[in-house]
Amino acid sequence: MLDLILKVRENVLNEIPITFEEALRLTTAGPLDIPYLAAAANEVRAKFAGNSVESCALSNIKSGNCSEDCKFCAQSGHYRTDAPVYSQISVEEIVAQAKEAEAMGATEFCLVSSGWGATQEKEFQVVLEAVRRITKETKLFADCSLGFLTDEQMTELKRAGLYRNNHNLEASKNYFNKVCTTHTYEQRARHVQEVQSHGIFPCSGGILGMGETPKDRIDLAFELKKLNVHCVPINILNPRRGTPLGDVESLEPLEIIKIIAIYRFILPKSTIKIAGGREVNLRDLQAMAMQAGANGLILGNYLTTLGRNPARDIQMLKDLGFEISQTPSPTHVGG
Ligand code: SF4
Repeated sequence: MLDLILKVRENVLNEIPITFEEALRLTTAGPLDIPYLAAAANEVRAKFAGNSVESCALSNIKSGNCSEDCKFCAQSGHYRTDAPVYSQISVEEIVAQAKEAEAMGATEFCLVSSGWGATQEKEFQVVLEAVRRITKETKLFADCSLGFLTDEQMTELKRAGLYRNNHNLEASKNYFNKVCTTHTYEQRARHVQEVQSHGIFPCSGGILGMGETPKDRIDLAFELKKLNVHCVPINILNPRRGTPLGDVESLEPLEIIKIIAIYRFILPKSTIKIAGGREVNLRDLQAMAMQAGANGLILGNYLTTLGRNPARDIQMLKDLGFEISQTPSPTHVGG
C-alpha cells in the first residue's frame, strides 16, 4: 500500500492524474496506512490549492415541507422528523445573519432553501435582494443552494452578484436512486452544467455514509471531476430520526479521513470542503481531516443541526498553520 501511495503522490504532484483503479485500490488502505495517505494528500493540497482555508456559513432561509423524498433529509415532507418547518425569512433577517457570519470569520455565506426550486417569484425576489445587499454591505461572497433554477433566475442571480451555486450530486450515478426517487441523478448533473454555463462557479459534492460502497464514493469523485466543479462539499451522514436512513451505522473517523485524502488526489485543484456531519462523525479527528487534503469547512450551524463554536474552528485552523482565506480562489477550478 505504501508503494501505491508514494506512486500516486509522485504522479499527482507532477500533474499525472490518478486512475480510477488506483483510487479504488487506495480505498483498501488500513489504519496504519491512512496517516501516510493523509500526509501525501496534504502535500497535494499545499501545492495546488495553497495554504488558505475557505470557510462558509449557511443560512437555512426556508425549512421543511419539501416535495422531494431524499432519504437522508430531515426537511423532506415525506417523513416525520423534528426538523424545523418555516417559510422563507426576510431580506433583513438574511442580511443580519450574513453580518454575524462575517464577524465570526466566514469567507462565504450560502442561502439554502428547501424545495424543488425557487418557484415563488416573491421569494425569489427576496433572495436576489439579499444577494445584492450581502455583496454590497459585507466582504462575504454570496452563494445559493435553492434547488433547480431556471435560466432566467440564474442570469438574474449572476447579475445580483452570486458567486457560487451549490447543487450537490449527493451520491454516485449508480447509488442515487437508492436515496431519492422524485428526481434523477441526470437532472442534478445537468443542472451543475447549466449553472456553469451562466458564469456561476459550481459547488457540488455529496454525502458519505448512506450505505454506498467504496466504489460508489470513487465514482462520485470522478463524476465531480468530469463536471469540473469548483468546490466539493463532503457531507457525512448524520442520521436523522424519522428519515429512512435514520438507523444507518456511522462511518469510522479514519474511513472518512481516507476518503477525503483520495478525493484530494482525484480533485487536486478543487476546494474540498468538509460540511455537514463533521463534528459528530469525525469527533477528535477533525484536525486530521484538515491535514488530509481538505481546504474548506462549514463554520457555525448546519441546516437542521448545530455545529461547534466557530471560534474553536478558527483556532484549530490557526493551530494547524492555515490562513483563513478572504477570497475563494477561482484558480481552484477543475480537479
Ligand atoms: S435534500 Fe433538498 S431536495 Fe432533498 S428533501 Fe432535502 S430539502 Fe428537499
